[in-house]
Amino acid sequence: MGKNNKQFVEKITAMEDDFAQWYTDVVKQAELVDYGTVRGTMIIRPYGFAIWENIRDELDKKFKETGHSNVYFPLFIPESMLQKEKDHIEGFAPEVAWVTHGGDEELAERICVRPTSEVLFGEYYAKNIHSYRDLPKLYNQWSNVVRWEKTTRPFLRSLEFLWQEGHTSHATREDAEAETNQMLEIYADVCENYLAVPVLRGKKTESEKFAGAHYTLTVESLMHDGKALQSGTSHYLGTGFAEAFDITYLDENGEQKPVHQTSWGMSTRIMGALIMVHGDNRGLIIPPRIAPTQAMIVPVAQHKEGVLDKAYDLRDRLQNLVWIDIDGSDKKPGWKFNEYEMKGIPIRIELGPKDIENEQVVLVRRDTGNKEFVQLSELEERLPALLEEVQQNLYDGALAHLEETMTTAVDMDQFKQALDETPGFIKAMWCGDEACEEKIKEETSATSRCIPFEQEKVSDSCVYCGRKAKEMVYWARAY
Ligand SMILES: [Zn+2]
Repeated sequence: MGKNNKQFVEKITAMEDDFAQWYTDVVKQAELVDYGTVRGTMIIRPYGFAIWENIRDELDKKFKETGHSNVYFPLFIPESMLQKEKDHIEGFAPEVAWVTHGGDEELAERICVRPTSEVLFGEYYAKNIHSYRDLPKLYNQWSNVVRWEKTTRPFLRSLEFLWQEGHTSHATREDAEAETNQMLEIYADVCENYLAVPVLRGKKTESEKFAGAHYTLTVESLMHDGKALQSGTSHYLGTGFAEAFDITYLDENGEQKPVHQTSWGMSTRIMGALIMVHGDNRGLIIPPRIAPTQAMIVPVAQHKEGVLDKAYDLRDRLQNLVWIDIDGSDKKPGWKFNEYEMKGIPIRIELGPKDIENEQVVLVRRDTGNKEFVQLSELEERLPALLEEVQQNLYDGALAHLEETMTTAVDMDQFKQALDETPGFIKAMWCGDEACEEKIKEETSATSRCIPFEQEKVSDSCVYCGRKAKEMVYWARAY
């Protein structure tokens, strides 16, 4: 039996048995990625890239609707430039990749492969912003970045990944903070309404914020195994980079002032969330709004006269309505069913001789497995409606998981019990002392995920030290 003729898709490890192995099996077998030759790098295969493109397109559309322009900056940063903002270099130094040679020649100054581009934009803005008339500057770039991570996993943590990084300059703190909030809302919107991934919004603690930021806002999501994933961050940089790079402008009164800046990013890491929020033991489940193929036609008994013709006619008829494809290859229908379930295609359309006789098709949902017979004449109405139902059901299921595993802890016994019994987000009060945050991490490996905008007072005292609490924090073990 040839490789392409195998009857069944290879087995995926059950997520209850070994979640990490389940994840690896899914990304490999659904053909999202392959491993690159250099440890920790990945090849994003056509199906994985098609999903990423749909996410990218939604983000890009929203960036442009809010007045941002795309640009492209160099991959390389001279070491001296990276040194200019002290907190920034301290934060990134451990994972920077350095270029030391050009051909045979040793470089006079080491060059860093960008881990992020604040300093490059800083230098550019210093040269190109002079007056209040030059503001705001609202730039975004789609690019790759390199971070030399010690342990790596496809999408979640890889040496090189794809992302977008927004970098903006504003006249006032108010404007820059409004931008920081706006971009976080765009991330939340794309997560919730396209990826069907509910998120918690909030501010990072000082120790978890972006290196060089005044503060960092984040959207956090919850995976099947009860671990959190930081899904997008938006930073108010204050005037730190402006001072380091001397980015100033003349205001209306002729006064020289530093600009207020933001930066914000979402990366291919979000693919990890997509897999771990919706997937099951048969593979991926892709939410219809970002599925490269929303419906796959699988002809049944296609050797019978007229079946394939009818199936292709159906594809032609529906292709302007939904993203539809057909598998008319001579592989067995059972193989095709498994393959497209593995790939998480939201709806399968079965069409065989009996169906043709009855002028109907069978629609099979990937999320619930439900089958329904639909008259051919009603497909234009039913198919888009069913896709919306799948989309909503995926979101509802993910939200239910997030809510059902959300616990409250008033002391460390409750905190540890929650981590063991109902892994998910824990609401607990914090005194604001980084020492307590550090101790919690040491003892439980849970980290502060965010200080939610919507505060709730679950007790009066810090969950760790018992002193007077300042704020409520969401905690979780995280990727
Ligand atoms: Zn404390």
